[in-house]
Amino acid sequence: MMQLLFQGVDGVADRTAEVRSCPSLPSTVPADSCSLQPVEPGDTLHEECGVVAVHGHPDAARQAYLGLYALQHRGQESAGIATANGQHLSNIKGMGLVSEIFTEDVLHKLPGTMAIGHTRYSTTGDSALLNAQPIRVDSTKGLIAIAHNGNLVNLGNVRERLEREGAYFQTTSDSEIIVQLIAHSGRHTLVDCIADSLAQVEGAFSIVMMTRDRIFAARDPRGFRPLSMGRIRNPNGPDTIVFASETCAFDLLRAEYERDVLPGELVMVTEDGVTSRQYATGVPQSSCIFEHVYFARPDSRIFGRWVQESRDQMGRQLARESGVPADVIVPVPDSGVTAALGYAEEARLPFRMGLIRNHYVGRTFIEPEQRVRDFGVRLKLNPVRNLLEGKRVVLIDDSIIRGTTSRKIVRMVRGAGAKEVHLRISCPPTISPCFYGVDTPSKRDLIAANNSVEQIRHFIEADSLAYLSLEGLLKCCDNGESNRFCTACYTGNYPTQWVDVDEILPATANV
Ligand code: SF4
Repeated sequence: MMQLLFQGVDGVADRTAEVRSCPSLPSTVPADSCSLQPVEPGDTLHEECGVVAVHGHPDAARQAYLGLYALQHRGQESAGIATANGQHLSNIKGMGLVSEIFTEDVLHKLPGTMAIGHTRYSTTGDSALLNAQPIRVDSTKGLIAIAHNGNLVNLGNVRERLEREGAYFQTTSDSEIIVQLIAHSGRHTLVDCIADSLAQVEGAFSIVMMTRDRIFAARDPRGFRPLSMGRIRNPNGPDTIVFASETCAFDLLRAEYERDVLPGELVMVTEDGVTSRQYATGVPQSSCIFEHVYFARPDSRIFGRWVQESRDQMGRQLARESGVPADVIVPVPDSGVTAALGYAEEARLPFRMGLIRNHYVGRTFIEPEQRVRDFGVRLKLNPVRNLLEGKRVVLIDDSIIRGTTSRKIVRMVRGAGAKEVHLRISCPPTISPCFYGVDTPSKRDLIAANNSVEQIRHFIEADSLAYLSLEGLLKCCDNGESNRFCTACYTGNYPTQWVDVDEILPATANV
């Protein structure tokens, strides 16, 4: 059974409802007989969220669904779609994958020509259904639905002030703070209230918002997270305007990429067309460089550059900086593939898929009664023995977080007969946590924050280990327009003042 939350849906009282669906488990296994464990808990970085918005389409909910489907990699915990038709604003959200939640029946309950959607991996607030997005709030400014990618950092302060002023929060999600600020703004028009509220929050936010008759899209003044605008041409009427976290969503919608929403820009779409204003200026840009390293799909264009191009360059640069005599280049799938192709071409060595990923492993698995060593990794990855046996292998991956997963992969490749295993990482060592929407462990748990490269090499049992330099990474992501990036997880230099001091304390003991 899957739980859905219905808000403002025609013919359905606001409530949670259970629908039959348990796709993460094989249907022959009774749910109560399973031991469900997270796959490799805590040693991967989690995508944060994906957002979409659609204005001016007769089946806006389905368009939002397709957009979210393409953005599923940005969050698999929950998803939601809100639609509006000028009078009503309906919202349905649930826990699970987009395709699990939005069946044909559910999509039919979401009429309207406007929609916003969200897919989420929780970074703040708990993971309850109520905190899934879009969040729909009935405020003094009318019904507003909001979907947010990123993380606010002056949250506690603003929330306390709003509560003192009488705000009643319906969720523990930081995104609701923006709506409460809008409700409490003394400005005269809604768009002024939104601009006023966005100027008061600090941190990372790419948001889409919807009232009964308008769509808004905005990025924080530093432009941490991507957000692009596209257009579906309609020869018989006004074009459909769409927004998405990544341009790969436009391909499924057959929308043309038009432009990025600028840092500090607020865009409004109404029946009369698109208008825009800069609600913040003069703030240095700090777009998340890790989007290029890991989060975004290679078929997306973010911060003015194709992700595929950046990753290919990272691999090439890595080969130039720390090439090693080898027989074969093997990516850790899937995120290491593009960089490994670049490395192999630059090093003139064969590229081989020496590790195969099982794409059907969900976020949970049924653990065997007897715990098998390295079971979690073996469930996801399997070596292709004939490609590895007797070879000097260069493994390409995009990060080492705690080091435990990397060690299991190195062991797996060696166990498959590799003569040497050299690990190359397509970004600098991750030494500091992220406060802008990426779920990183605190500093004491980051292996590179507390150990030298040689100590990490020893821990993961590789023959050699090298990371891409920061200068090299910046060069690989440069789009020629002097884009400036946040690199705080590699440097510890945060672009905002608000950070959680507790999280950046180093560990007391080394591995
Ligand atoms: Fe991105 Fe790292 Fe900056 Fe977080 S700290 S926004 S992951 S570059």
